[in-house]
Amino acid sequence: MIYLKSDEEIALIRNSSLLVGKTLAEVARNIRPGVTTQFLDQVAETFIRDHKAIPGFKGYKGFPATLCISINEQVVHGIPGSREMKEGDLVSIDCGVLNDGYYGDSAYSFAVGEVSNEVKQLMNATKESLYLGIEQAVHGKRTGDIGNAIQTYVERLGFSVVRELVGHGVGKHLHESPEVSNFGKKGQGMLLTVGMVIAIEPMINLGKRHVIQEKDGWTIRTADRKPSAHYEHTIAIRKNKTEILSSFEEIEKVLNEN
Ligand code: MG
Ligand code: MG
Repeated sequence: MIYLKSDEEIALIRNSSLLVGKTLAEVARNIRPGVTTQFLDQVAETFIRDHKAIPGFKGYKGFPATLCISINEQVVHGIPGSREMKEGDLVSIDCGVLNDGYYGDSAYSFAVGEVSNEVKQLMNATKESLYLGIEQAVHGKRTGDIGNAIQTYVERLGFSVVRELVGHGVGKHLHESPEVSNFGKKGQGMLLTVGMVIAIEPMINLGKRHVIQEKDGWTIRTADRKPSAHYEHTIAIRKNKTEILSSFEEIEKVLNEN
């Protein structure tokens, strides 16, 4: 069942999504070698609660933290802890916020200091693929058009698409229908219509597409232990346009200061 959102509901999801972007920007200020992922999580939780909102992931199906922090070969759902980031790490951070009854969901991959050229290319390609997917997310197209745009682009560059994890509807629930795969065939999948709010979130691997789950029951990592990147926007399909409800603007402002 797909819940279509009113303009008022979309405005609330936008508020939550923008707060996620601001939270990730606050986190970005603290990304440097020697800082623990637990510290970043604390920064995020404090920031969200200071804004009278609720961390969307904490307690979700038992997840213990505000952020999912996934380093290098970790794809998504990494649990913050005592691990320190080090120079050259690729750190993917996913954040959700619940405010006024509606969720926002967004993710960004960060370089700790200087990363290798291939990791830089992976990050750029993953972010670019997200926007190519968003371009397809218009009334009358299908989820397969989104996945196809992402898959075609990254595979041409020699990267691969994680199949087991997908984007999703966003609203009163963190994960709603439909599923939004990052691979697929044009013209297939669920029909996209005005009022749909979805999170598009390509998880792209430098090596092969296969992933496994770590023993902690959460962390997903690449089977070949090569790096993976992840970017995510929450978007709304509106009449004649698609609106990106989350924003990387604040994050990239911080990154450009450094
Ligand atoms: Mg997310
Ligand atoms: Mg998501």
